[in-house]
Amino acid sequence: MASKKKGLNTICTHVGEVPDNQFKGAVSPIYMSSSYAYTDVDVKRYPRYFNTPNQEYLCKKIAALEHTESALIFGSGMAAVSTTLFAFLSKGDHVVLQKTLYGGTFNLTKEEFAKHGIEYTIADGWDISSLKKAIKKNTKVMYVETPSNPLLTITDLNAVSKLCKKEGIISMIDNTFASPINQNPADFGIDIIIHSGTKYMGGHSDICAGAVAASVEHIHKIWNVAKNLGGSLADFMVWMLERSMKTMAIRVQAQNKNAIKLAKFLNKHKAIEKVYYPGLKTHEDHKLAKKQMSGYGGMLSFELKKGIDAQKFEKNLRLIKSSMSLAGVESTMLSPAQTSHSLLSKKDRKKQGISDGLIRFSVGIEDVKDIIEDIEQAINKL
Ligand SMILES: *Cc1c(COP(=O)(O)O)cnc(C)c1O
Repeated sequence: MASKKKGLNTICTHVGEVPDNQFKGAVSPIYMSSSYAYTDVDVKRYPRYFNTPNQEYLCKKIAALEHTESALIFGSGMAAVSTTLFAFLSKGDHVVLQKTLYGGTFNLTKEEFAKHGIEYTIADGWDISSLKKAIKKNTKVMYVETPSNPLLTITDLNAVSKLCKKEGIISMIDNTFASPINQNPADFGIDIIIHSGTKYMGGHSDICAGAVAASVEHIHKIWNVAKNLGGSLADFMVWMLERSMKTMAIRVQAQNKNAIKLAKFLNKHKAIEKVYYPGLKTHEDHKLAKKQMSGYGGMLSFELKKGIDAQKFEKNLRLIKSSMSLAGVESTMLSPAQTSHSLLSKKDRKKQGISDGLIRFSVGIEDVKDIIEDIEQAINKL
């Protein structure tokens, strides 16, 4: 593919533009039609067939960024996750899930899989030996997430793909936290790459979308289920996503740069107990992260020292907003114990390594000195 040779920013800006042959506009036209002619055409187009002009072209950009042959865009990250899992799992099949996964993905397996006779095992950890131990005779899929939410654990992509190939298992990754700018799992042999487009692809906290990148064969299999489940993305939002992705590399690289500076700053701060960031040399999987990531991302977590009230700390912040979502150009923080993991008992939270003082930090593109100043004043006020 010619686009592989182009630089990241050129791919983000230009690959997958919808040609405007009539007016030669600088940006892609939006095709809002939900109805297309079926005679004298080579493709029968319909929004829920995932093949309107805007959908079809944006998929080229995503495939080029993820180094895959093909891609599909969905109405949300969970539409991408659920459709892809259901495309490869039937009654009597088994899936191995990494211990640390996005909460919505766990809910999907817990609440929906039994109804369809699909079995799953949550591995003891995220390392290759725990994943291997969870494999059964009927395992069809292994599903990992690296870096993971919220503790930024790292799973060895090369080892996962090798193990899966040996066992005849399909390997899937949720690559949302890294974004295609920092990590391309296809280069390590992972079969299927899933994104919540709501996060770094959208990047401005105003789009809900999802994406899957894989080979033509695998995408066709997913498409066959996708057209039945119907989780397509409306064309105006497809166009918005294309517009946002033009600046994805610039945004994510700015977030990488801010995050490493902030991780170092927090690591030295006397009010902070521990920092979780794969870019820090003290992170237990730093070497592995260095091997498989070209940047360490804009997500980090940190633990406040015992006795410091996380809620009060969050309330004192002025520039940094508290927010349930992540990956926007604005810096946001969230307390997992009070939000994403609040339904778990304190004991279960502890088992997952989530303390009351843990804060998940989605680093934005603001000037890093202003972010540091905000954290300083929020701590000083306590
Ligand atoms: C947000 C998120 C999802 C789900 O995406 P939605 O767009 O909210 O459906 C899946 N995985 C990860 C890692 C996420 O952060």
